[in-house]
This record gives sequence, C-alpha cells and structure tokens, in this order.
Amino acid sequence: MRVGIIGGGAAGLGAAYELTLRGHTVEVFEQAPFLGGQASTFEVGGQPLERGYHHLFRSDTAMADLMQELGLGHRLTWIDSSVGFFYDGKVWPFMSPMDLLRFKPLSLIDRFRVGLVTLYLQRRKEWKSLEQSTAAEWMRRRAGEKGYRVVFEPMLRGKFGRFYDQVSMAWLWNKFALRTTSRGKGLKGMAKEQLGYPVGSFDEVFQAAAAYVVEKGGQVHTSAAVEQVVVEDGRATGLTVRVNGGEPEQRLYDAVIATVPSYIFPKLVPSLPEEYTAKLSSATYLAAVLVVLLMDRPLSSVYWMNIADRSLPFLAIIEHTNFMPPEHYGGKHIVYLANYLDDQDPLFHKGREELFEAYLPHLKKVNPEFDVSWVEEYHYHREAAAQPVVTKGYSAQIPDVRTPISGLYLANTTQRYELQRTPGPSGGRCGG
Ligand SMILES: Cc1cc2nc3c(=O)[nH]c(=O)nc-3n(C[C@H](O)[C@H](O)[C@H](O)COP(=O)(O)OP(=O)(O)OC[C@H]3O[C@@H](n4cnc5c(N)ncnc54)[C@H](O)[C@@H]3O)c2cc1C
Repeated sequence: MRVGIIGGGAAGLGAAYELTLRGHTVEVFEQAPFLGGQASTFEVGGQPLERGYHHLFRSDTAMADLMQELGLGHRLTWIDSSVGFFYDGKVWPFMSPMDLLRFKPLSLIDRFRVGLVTLYLQRRKEWKSLEQSTAAEWMRRRAGEKGYRVVFEPMLRGKFGRFYDQVSMAWLWNKFALRTTSRGKGLKGMAKEQLGYPVGSFDEVFQAAAAYVVEKGGQVHTSAAVEQVVVEDGRATGLTVRVNGGEPEQRLYDAVIATVPSYIFPKLVPSLPEEYTAKLSSATYLAAVLVVLLMDRPLSSVYWMNIADRSLPFLAIIEHTNFMPPEHYGGKHIVYLANYLDDQDPLFHKGREELFEAYLPHLKKVNPEFDVSWVEEYHYHREAAAQPVVTKGYSAQIPDVRTPISGLYLANTTQRYELQRTPGPSGGRCGG
C-alpha cells in the first residue's frame, strides 16, 4: 500500500516507521524545515536541544522500544529527577512523602489530607466517574481549600493556564494513579523517580526513523506543506502538496494519515461531515510559550520547579542541566521559563525581548543572587497547539482515528487520551 502522511512529528514519523516495517511505502510531508514538530530541536553549544523541555517516563515504552529497534537503545539514559515547589519565597523539595510532611505552608492536618488524597489517587483504578467532576471541585472537597489552593491549583495552572478550573479530575487522577511506575525499584512508590532522555536529544530518534523509511524506499520531505487531501467518491486518494515553495502538485495514495492539530484538519479536508468537524472544533488548545536561558551558572538545584506564587509571570522553571549535565552543552546551563497561554493573555502577544524583560526581575525571587549577567543568550519558542484542554466528559468529544472518509485517518494529541495509556506521568510534575 502507498500511504501519504501529513506531519513529520513523533506521530507522523512513528506511523511512517511502523508502516514501512510492515512492507508499505510511505511519503511524509512536514511543512517546517525540520522534523520533530513539538519535540523538534535547535542547537545549543553544538548540541541539539528541544525547543520545549522533553523527557520520558518509565511508562513511555513505545518510545523506548522504538529506540531499541532503531539501534539507539544504548542512547537512552535514565536519570534521577528532582521536583521543587516555589511557594512563599522559597523552593520546597517535593519528591517524597517526607517532603510533604516538611512542607510548612500547610498546617499539619492539611499536609496529612494532601498526603492521603495522593495515596488514594495512586491506588485508585477506576477513572470514568471522575470525568464528571472538575479537578478543582473534587480536590477542594477531598484535600481541603488550603491544600487545593497551595498544592493542586498551581499544578493545574502550570499545564492549563486560565482554564485550570475547567480541567477534568480524570486528567489529574492519571498524574497520580500512575506515578509509581517512573520510580525505580524499592519500597513501592517511595524510590526515587527516574526520567529518560536520549543522549543525543529526541532529534536522533526522528532522524533514525526517517533514515529507515528512506532506506526502505519511502520518502520524508521537510519544507513540504500539504494543502489539501484529495477526496473522490468519499475516499481519500491523494494529497495536494507544495514542496520547497514550488507549484502545488498532486500525489496519489491508497491511504492518508494526518497528524495535524484538530483546527487545521478541516481546512485540508473541507468535505468532512459536520458531525465529525463538530468534534474537531470542540478542541481548545493552549500554546506553550518558552523562554530558554543559556547561563554561565545554575539558577537552582532542581530540574522541575512548579511555580505556586502567582506574582511570578511564568508557571514552571525547568532547569534542563539539572537533568542532563551542562558539559553536554559546552558548559552552558539551560533554563526553560514555561507558560501555557491562549491569545487572551497579554503575555501571549509579547515578543522575545519583551517577554525576557518581563520575566527577568522575577528570577531573583527564586535565587536572590541571580544577575542578568549570568545570561549569555536567550531564545523564544512558541508551540501553538501544545496542550488540548481536557474538560469534563472529554472522552466523548474525541474524534475517531478512522474518519468518515474512507482511507483517511487522523492521529493527533487530542486523541492521546492520557487515561488509556499504560502507567504514566508523575504527580508532582504535570509536564510532557
Ligand atoms: C513544551 C512541551 C513540552 C513537552 N514535553 C513532553 C515530555 O516531556 N514528554 C512527552 O512525552 N511529551 C512531551 N510533550 C508533548 C509531545 O511533544 C507531543 O505529544 C508530540 O511531540 C506530538 O507529536 P505529533 O506528531 O502528534 O504532533 P506535532 O509534533 O505537533 O507534529 C505535527 C506536525 O505536523 C506538521 N504540519 C501541520 N500542518 C501541516 C501541513 N499542512 N503540511 C505538512 N505538515 C504539517 C507540523 O509542522 C508538525 O511538525 C511536550 C510538548 C510541549 C509543547
């Protein structure tokens, strides 16, 4: 079978690799001049680095298996993670039950309540009924108002910005229920959490997958935008593409897979039935807005810091070089200042310099010694369709992978329903 694939991110390249493995011939079109989509990289100190922080959890077996199959198993490294919570002018470690017990901003009773709720969520198996509550409602009831405000609300804001109070409890449950799997062996759930990273960045995986496809007779194009899916008699038969800014041309396929965000898909396929497009348009996305600092020294000793102080204009500080050592990047210390925003937020409209200026004074709150002279370089990245907002009853709104048009498939992040994954992300960290 000949298959046309729209998008050269993780989903497009993953599909291309799997289909090639099964003897099909694929052609991938990526509109950007590089592969990797949301997990794409830029160069820092001679090394590729993700535009937005990335790591793997132990449960991300698909990526670990893919690396193994591509001969990159030895490049996947597992590193102890560290999580902190910035609250009340202080960075509180937030990795273990003992850290919670030492977390003075909450009364002893509130600490116990938060601890018990966490334990309960880690062990609870059923999630469907949690879809009917928002995390805010549910947590207020179970963890108490103070516990919710101080611990859980910042986590929700850290991922969903102003939509924080609309997020389904089922989403938050997933972050807790499955957290133990990223912890090493030992007293269950108490051992240190480890996170994975490909030593040469995720780009190494994407390049190896693309190379495999090409070696087997497929093609992978960058700077190649798909303008339309060709549909004849209710069946997808090809793509109209524009490669390297040339004239639009038609290519014929037996099947087409699109990995584009939900709001782009109907533009490529205007003949999609209304019932299906209604599901596509119900998806609300937040943009990830990132300022990446390259510094001559560390800002903190923590990899992942949730910001629970709303006077700071960003939601998390991810210090990548407290995960992968700075020697990897020519000695530079790498800090992501992360926000999830929509276009109603004034910060969304600020450019690189403006955002840097707005953020900078707040770094002194996290580390009073911080001085602007530490920053050697800074970068700005914005990923428009970074985070679908997972609201109450979300599972009913997910568009089918198999679209109503025969031979046309959609695979994007709105369908990667976290709840159906095998064990996944950590409770303290709502990243990735
Ligand atoms: C800041 C940030 C941090 C993250 N951290 C983690 C993490 O730690 N762990 C984790 O597992 N996940 C993480 N993620 C999520 C992860 O990056 C995504 O789930 C994954 O990359 C999505 O891959 P995809 O192929 O589905 O989509 P995308 O990467 O969005 O790929 C879609 C591709 O389609 C292309 N495209 C769009 N329209 C067209 C067109 N008309 N023609 C041709 N091409 C087109 C786009 O350019 C894009 O490259 C993070 C995401 C962000 C934004």
